[in-house]
Amino acid sequence: MNGSHATALRCIQCGTSFPLEYRLECDRCAGLLELQYDWAALEKSGPDVFTGGGLWRYAPVLPIADPAHRVTLGEGQSPLLDCPALARRLGVRRLYAKFEGSNPTGTVKDRSSTTAVAAALQFGFSATSVVSSGNAGSSIGAYSAKAGLRSLVFAYEKTSAPKLLHMAATATDLVIYQGVYDDLIGIWDRLVEDRVFFDCGASRNAYKHEGKKTIAYEIAEQLSWQAPDIVVAPVAVGETFIAACRGFAEMAQVGWISKQPQMVAAQAARANAVVRAWREHRPIQPIKIGYTVAEGLAAGDPGKKGSWTLALLQEHGGIAGDAEDEEILEAQRLLAQTEGIWAGPTGVATLAVLRRLLSQKAINWDATICIILSETGLKTEAPLPSRQALAFDEASLRRLVTERLARR
Ligand SMILES: [Zn+2]
Repeated sequence: MNGSHATALRCIQCGTSFPLEYRLECDRCAGLLELQYDWAALEKSGPDVFTGGGLWRYAPVLPIADPAHRVTLGEGQSPLLDCPALARRLGVRRLYAKFEGSNPTGTVKDRSSTTAVAAALQFGFSATSVVSSGNAGSSIGAYSAKAGLRSLVFAYEKTSAPKLLHMAATATDLVIYQGVYDDLIGIWDRLVEDRVFFDCGASRNAYKHEGKKTIAYEIAEQLSWQAPDIVVAPVAVGETFIAACRGFAEMAQVGWISKQPQMVAAQAARANAVVRAWREHRPIQPIKIGYTVAEGLAAGDPGKKGSWTLALLQEHGGIAGDAEDEEILEAQRLLAQTEGIWAGPTGVATLAVLRRLLSQKAINWDATICIILSETGLKTEAPLPSRQALAFDEASLRRLVTERLARR
């Protein structure tokens, strides 16, 4: 029951198939690999093949064969929240928020950490490693700890204090690196070839990547096996975007949903290599980036997955958009005030981009739209509200309450 239907790895460029082993790219052309499944069997059984709760409900479309390797902290089944008040503010017919802040470490990263660490066990590794702007580090640390593996986490020097605390708590070894993600990832990726640790990075590992696909399956199942018209996904190197796109495409292929959503790739304007390439109809050129409040989107060189993201956008008629840091912070407040959802800046970049695209009339107001909010706001580092304290007697307390409630 609930066995994996994975059959092979396949190169996205030349189509060569490989057995289900630990392999990061194609032998022939160095293309990225994606997982293949026995879709004939899955089509026959229908979505009833999914049983149990949490992310591993979708084990039949994940590449981990032995249930004993499926390390879990209770990830997945995040809420798909109907947001009528925010929809009215934006002037759209229907708006859903897929809020990933409810995952065990507060971010969408837990979806890929659970399959990454499970794959590390499947292939007999005793250590994991990741280069992180903050969220991936604490998540890989947590799942590695749960699995009894060592984790070597390289963390962005400007990561927020709450993220740093979280990484220090969960990782076996935490090392702070100078500069931004792009400065370390290239050389770290070369160390991966030595197989001294399991690759928990976002750039190549298909087993890790695959866990994030479940976000699409959940959205569809939460809408009674329908896809929204539009899904807005964040893009750093493109892992969440590609995985969501793959998930919807698979479900459409077996007829579990009638159509795929239009995908929107959301980036921070300060790290918008994919958006620039999409706008200018050209290949991606890496850009030098500085700090953005959307820390998780701070990648100037999205590598091969950036190109894959661009290809999917072109192939499926998707849209790419970006937003300035100020717009992202404004979206964060708006979301909290209208819907009570406290998501981090990386998480609300999708909302900020949606607002921009609506104002540019690049998106139809009459659509059913789903934004992916990739992280909790509880790891945000921002200036504290005033701590100026007031002393009360009953009369002054009454005056204040009366005055406050009279405010519009
Ligand atoms: Zn190939």
